[in-house]
Amino acid sequence: MDGFAVSEGIAMGTVRRFEWSVPDVPHDTVADGARQQELTRFQDALDWAKTRLRVLRTKTETRLGPVEARIFDPQILMLDDPEVVEGTRLYVAEHRLSAARAFDWRMLELKERWARASHPPLMDRLNDLEDLKLRVLGRLLGLAGPWDLDLAEEGTVVVAPDLTPSFAAHLDPAKVVAVATDEGARTSHWAILARSLRLPVVAGLGSVCATAQDGQTMIVDGRVGRVVLNPDAADRERFERRRSALLATPRSAANASARTLTTLDRTPVVLRANLDLPAEADRAREHGAAGVGLLRTEFLVAGRASPPDEEEQYAAYRGAVEAFPGEAVIVRTFDLGGDKFPLFLRAPAERNPLLGRRGARVYRDEPELLATQIRALLRAAVHGDLRIMVPMVDTPDDLRFVRRHVEEAADRLRRAGKPFASAVKLGAAVETPAAALHAPELAAHADFLSIGTNDLVQYALAVDRNSRRLAPLLDPLHPAVPRLIATAARAGRSADIEVSACGEMAARPLGVVLLLGLGVPTLSVAWSSLPEVARLVRRLRIADARKAAAEAVAAPDSAAARRAVEACLAQARPDEPIRPQR
Ligand code: PEP
Ligand code: MG
Repeated sequence: MDGFAVSEGIAMGTVRRFEWSVPDVPHDTVADGARQQELTRFQDALDWAKTRLRVLRTKTETRLGPVEARIFDPQILMLDDPEVVEGTRLYVAEHRLSAARAFDWRMLELKERWARASHPPLMDRLNDLEDLKLRVLGRLLGLAGPWDLDLAEEGTVVVAPDLTPSFAAHLDPAKVVAVATDEGARTSHWAILARSLRLPVVAGLGSVCATAQDGQTMIVDGRVGRVVLNPDAADRERFERRRSALLATPRSAANASARTLTTLDRTPVVLRANLDLPAEADRAREHGAAGVGLLRTEFLVAGRASPPDEEEQYAAYRGAVEAFPGEAVIVRTFDLGGDKFPLFLRAPAERNPLLGRRGARVYRDEPELLATQIRALLRAAVHGDLRIMVPMVDTPDDLRFVRRHVEEAADRLRRAGKPFASAVKLGAAVETPAAALHAPELAAHADFLSIGTNDLVQYALAVDRNSRRLAPLLDPLHPAVPRLIATAARAGRSADIEVSACGEMAARPLGVVLLLGLGVPTLSVAWSSLPEVARLVRRLRIADARKAAAEAVAAPDSAAARRAVEACLAQARPDEPIRPQR
């Protein structure tokens, strides 16, 4: 079954279904004279929930860190939100509903209002709301919390309709080896916690809860977003190979490192890591990453009610840079909008968020958000080779706008007497067909180009990358895609600036062949893909990859492009069958 790759790593274990739901609330009313008492009970439940959440927040901070701890802030804030509290009190005071009934009603109203906005970050808020409901209703109805998954056995794969931050914070990695869910996405708050716990997760599987039975064996491949129920001998063998490649790499990193990578015919290839959280830096280094090709910074705003300040950001970026002494660490400025709008931006719902305010477009309305981030980045750049990447660039103007902010930030830091690096490279993410076709002009204003194939494929083909139904259409081998990449790569070469690729395509065998063949010699992938990509690069002849890529660019259709690239791949790894590509 295919879903979304949410947390890296691969594991096999025994299914344990965890089908939680918000409790049913009886249709109770209270006697006239008991209203005050009911209001007091409600306040007690709010206080109780707040105390529990604060404890969980503190524990999470100790166990995982401040970024992860802040995931509980929206819920804590909701407990004081007049929309929640006053609305409930009104139903008790005026309609004599029991506190549980009144709270349930109020939450239902808010849920419907938020769901109508159908904005992905609000969808995450809905998930927070469910978490809160479980807690407050549990207290009011005198139910035991279902937080502890109460697992006796080690090696459990938790299969659930969805999770919440509280559930995720209670997962015990000593017992749980992986998670598979029907709902959820990479940006879900609970998914961030699971990543931090280093648990492989595949979400958005649609019907895994209905399909899997307790006690069955399941492989969860968080790298490609796939689960295999009741694996056969071939599946198990593939799993073992993958897992041992991941386990073996840290020990052999010194001699088989991706840091000194060349193709079979000695063309150097740079292999860096994509990080969603700075905490992943260690694993990336252990797996041989030669720096960071993409540090997504959205973890700093996930679920936050206010933007992160300069100090907090500086500490986070500095940590990432210091994890890779002497190597490039490319930090992407906030890529907000689309499927990731934090609460504090209070963005009006858009009909079509993926074509709306996204990436660099947001900065014009939020100059202070950008300015603070740039100051923190310039300061962190003192500690290493930090470079700045701007997401969703369409025109040189987008880059000029950010460069002006870099200059202003430098002025301000100079006046404040704070140390900062003055010559920080500024690059553009090539994620739209416009950017790829316009790459020569962008290259004149950029110090590097990084091809974000996840978005480039989505926008080139006009296929929502998050749609399960359309997944078969999201085809990186549609000849339009290699042609766009070739245009961007050529522009970078002519301008003598670095061109890299940081989307999922760089982690897939066919993608590696295609990208190298198209003249993109620097790839950036999630840590768990580093060993496999490095192994393939060492067995490839660049001349063969170039020939295959040229055929793909000229191909009349996807099938012909695929045949060309598959033939090259088969030459490089004759002993391995070509796995189907999603
Ligand atoms: C991309 O679009 O390819 C990319 C790397 O960025 P993200 O997946 O964060 O949109
Ligand atoms: Mg992108």
